Amino acid sequence: MQKKLLISTIYLGVFLAGFSGKAQNQPAPGSQPLSYDPPGSTDTRSKPIELPVRRTYSFEGSGVRVSTDFEGARLNELTQLNDTLFTAVIRPENAPINMSPWYAFKVWADSARPVYIRMTYQNGRHRYYPKISSEGQRWQPLDSASFFPGDSVATMRLAAGPDTLWIAAQEMILLRHVQVWADSLDRLPFVSKQTVGYSAQQRPIIALSVGKPDSKRVLAVISRQHPPEVTGYLAMQAFVETIAGDSKLARRFRRKFETIVLPMINPDGVANGHWRHNTGGIDLNRDWKYFRQPETAVVRDFLTKEVSRQQARVYFGLDFHSTWNDIYYVFDEKTTPYATSLTQQWLTGVEGVIPGYKANQSASGTESPISKNWFFTQFGADAVTYEVGDNTPRDDLRVKGQVAAVEMMKLLLKQR
Ligand SMILES: [Zn+2]
Repeated sequence: MQKKLLISTIYLGVFLAGFSGKAQNQPAPGSQPLSYDPPGSTDTRSKPIELPVRRTYSFEGSGVRVSTDFEGARLNELTQLNDTLFTAVIRPENAPINMSPWYAFKVWADSARPVYIRMTYQNGRHRYYPKISSEGQRWQPLDSASFFPGDSVATMRLAAGPDTLWIAAQEMILLRHVQVWADSLDRLPFVSKQTVGYSAQQRPIIALSVGKPDSKRVLAVISRQHPPEVTGYLAMQAFVETIAGDSKLARRFRRKFETIVLPMINPDGVANGHWRHNTGGIDLNRDWKYFRQPETAVVRDFLTKEVSRQQARVYFGLDFHSTWNDIYYVFDEKTTPYATSLTQQWLTGVEGVIPGYKANQSASGTESPISKNWFFTQFGADAVTYEVGDNTPRDDLRVKGQVAAVEMMKLLLKQR
């Protein structure tokens, strides 16, 4: 696709400045990618979900209002216990489900007053430290003296007042934010954006092409299969912005390679404030053998069509996620030497750049129905499920995404 004028380059933070990441050697949450799936959660035939309740709770005596009447909200029930204490129930879209309780709501009051909200998680344990915002765009962690986490219960003290306070499990990055980001990249002459299909609720699934259109050399990037996994999305953004950046390396890479990016493949789950699933009630990252869900089928159809039309080779597939710690799910040594060698060279490169950094890896075969394995079985590509910690400092994960992109570009340019 031919592009218009070059308008601007994308701002990138000073490379490596202020990096404060530590080696991540903690054990992974299970040595196999699927081991944290509760029984019965991996069948990808559609199941019913509970639709979100979009409403504003009004407590006349105390003048407190709590609202879930916005995209991405989640809070299923709310009861007032006394003047300042409210109990909320946070339920998943359906169950069984991986325990990643997402929540998001707004609070305000007639006059300034403390409001305590005790969240009770059904089918889940506490995972996300609360973030607050005054407008839903810029977020910061709730002051630690105001948060009292338990196991299946967590209480927060909020300074409510006439101005709306937003509370969410992570920074809220909805489809509209992804569109703004994708449009800013689309202004570059070597980027094009398109809608490649639609989710079950008819939200667009968008793709970006960065670099040489119709190239025979492809790098594939996907993100947001799991709605709350915002840190993976932020690392993906830094990764893609580095490839679209102004460095000599990036320019050279773009002349040879096309990077195809699907930044949000579960837009319905995000809009409905889901913990993990799409509106078919399914974990999309367990559907890459069956393609029973519209979102996975759209991505499969688009990528296979593009790759075959261009007679391209997919060199690498990267799927960005979030979990407790930074971890790379890689192929084991039984999976072709070709596949193994690219990942290991890449991670060695990343370790060489970040002082003291040791890439935390977990290896497995290609059997499970996850996207990483589909990249391998469909295209013979090496692939990694790139998991970023929920609490990794945001500056650090940008740097990690940038370093990952630089080392990936260097490595792929060396391939024949
Ligand atoms: Zn995930």
